[in-house]
Amino acid sequence: MTVLRAGAATDIGLVRANNQDQLLLAGSLYAVADGMGGHAAGEVASDTAVKALEAAWATRSAHDARALEAAARDANRKVWQTAQADPSLRGMGTTLVAVALTGSDEAEELAVINVGDSRVYLLRGGELAQLTVDHSLVAELVAEGQLAADEAEFHPQRHVLTRALGVDSDVPVDLVTVAPIQGDRLLLCSDGLIREVSDNQVASVLRRLSDPTEAARELVAEAKLRGGNDNITVVVVDVLDNSERAAQAWGGLAPDRDATASLVAEAGVDDVSDPTTSVPVVAPIPAPKATRRQHRKSSKAVAPTRPRVRIVTARVVLFFLLLLMVLGGGAAAVGWYGRASYYVGLSGQQLTIFKGRPGGVLWIHPTVAQGTGVTTSQVESRHLPELQAGVTESSLAAAQAYVTNLTHEYKQAHSQLAPTSPPSSAPSTSVPQG
Ligand code: MG
Repeated sequence: MTVLRAGAATDIGLVRANNQDQLLLAGSLYAVADGMGGHAAGEVASDTAVKALEAAWATRSAHDARALEAAARDANRKVWQTAQADPSLRGMGTTLVAVALTGSDEAEELAVINVGDSRVYLLRGGELAQLTVDHSLVAELVAEGQLAADEAEFHPQRHVLTRALGVDSDVPVDLVTVAPIQGDRLLLCSDGLIREVSDNQVASVLRRLSDPTEAARELVAEAKLRGGNDNITVVVVDVLDNSERAAQAWGGLAPDRDATASLVAEAGVDDVSDPTTSVPVVAPIPAPKATRRQHRKSSKAVAPTRPRVRIVTARVVLFFLLLLMVLGGGAAAVGWYGRASYYVGLSGQQLTIFKGRPGGVLWIHPTVAQGTGVTTSQVESRHLPELQAGVTESSLAAAQAYVTNLTHEYKQAHSQLAPTSPPSSAPSTSVPQG
């Protein structure tokens, strides 16, 4: 007969005004809930969920895995009804993970349920494996290959859940079962732990401290040390045997892969070909078809966002600094290009030298650098189209030289015409039309 021993710790963290997490240790039923909602609604949601779960579990005649799933759905209904009955609680919701010892003496199982992004891990043979799948937008994007796992940490919608208790009258519940083995250690936690402490660091603490309460407290302390940006809740459950003490079960805490393989084989699990990459201890129980359809519907319709404080890390600051430098460099380059040259254009009938580019570049508009005192009637008319478009020169001197050339050209043409014209002729026929 399997005996469980558990320890737990919860903390408000260093940023939040209240602790919306809840935990439950009730016989061989354990749970963690992470509430969300304005004011006190998040606390009400998580508190209602764990109490309703405990009550529903207690009233079930058969304590099997399906009964735990049903109890979780009862808890969902209770949270939803509570929200419907009180306008100030509308929109509240909560995550829920729970573990319960189920089955008869001959075929005991640990049933694990999950809704949301709290997690359950199993430490077996020194190796840590996550038993639950997050119901969050980023987890789905990562699973679909649309987002790298390390990008998920900084994704702007990383707090959006695709499933939560209390936002609809029914919710699909993930259920897996684990055949318990002496020495197994389960960890239930809210995201306040896993956003601060890496899986490797979690595994290290779980291997080092054999007392479950000490391990839970240490994990909470680590999360606070690394920022404590959210409420942190941890439940550690050890699988003991009636005849053995935990100290014996955890006598050899170092990873022993051969031992893992043999333990798994004893548990009757088929695939032990590669115990280093996966510990095949989990037997996922597929949801009924109707439930899966509901899940797809609710994934789109229900996306509660937690009003969490965003973590500003050095990487984020560095990213924005680099972005500012790139934008600043781009603006400087546009400014240089827009102002670097001169052109000769028209200002009314006057030839004018402008600084800038004809028509301007983005927000850089040309400015008048110099008037020339030359009008369109003093240059050959064939130059007027190019002057209207603007004749670009590399410097002010080059622009001045261009104007001088135009006037020189005009004077030459007309000084050659003058001697051949009759002295009393009417206005020159060569006067260009402006
Ligand atoms: Mg949280």
